[in-house]
Amino acid sequence: MNIHPEFHRFLNRHDKQVLLRQRGIVVWLCGLSGSGKSTIANAAERVLYQQGRVTVILDGDNLRSGLNSNLGFSDEDRLENIRRIAETAKLFVSQGIITFVSAITPRGELRDLVRGLLGADLFEVYVEASYATCEKRDVKGLYAKAARGEIAHFTGKDGSFEPPQNPALVLNTETSSVQDAAFELLEAITDRISINPEL
Ligand code: ADP
Repeated sequence: MNIHPEFHRFLNRHDKQVLLRQRGIVVWLCGLSGSGKSTIANAAERVLYQQGRVTVILDGDNLRSGLNSNLGFSDEDRLENIRRIAETAKLFVSQGIITFVSAITPRGELRDLVRGLLGADLFEVYVEASYATCEKRDVKGLYAKAARGEIAHFTGKDGSFEPPQNPALVLNTETSSVQDAAFELLEAITDRISINPEL
């Protein structure tokens, strides 16, 4: 093979985490379009920013205009879309950065891939809201388009969404406010992002 990884020469994750005084984690938010993934990531990130934490949000929609612009919504492309997002998240978390991913991630197969790539760094969150609620919110006008038959394989309609079997956390955005959901999430990851005094 002509590939020679050079990881041993670089400053490592431990060095970065000591610098940042935090531990990296990937908070992967999955759920229907309009369920509240980006809104919650944004609210949680702002609180962490106030606390002096370094974060990044990888938003599935945004990445589709750049890194993933050559991908569509077939099963194969969704898999590649998620693989690239997970690999990108892996790069960030390897630098000690608290990484939020907001991506529908509709099937178990996709989440298995994510788990395989991120292992113990993954904190899987199911942002739950019914199709009817998301349709009512219709933040991006996609549900109206889907109702008119203008979107093929729309998740929750003719493209299935399989709820995760064993997420680390479920945030129901029909029963919790944005603020409450964000605080619940932050409380759940506090220990995971705090650095050990002996580090
Ligand atoms: P997604 O990223 O999952 O596609 P967005 O975050 O873009 O969804 O949109 C969610 C919409 O739902 C926003 O307009 C937000 O204000 C609204 N919303 C209402 N209640 C909540 C809640 N508890 N948590 C998150 N979003 C909520």
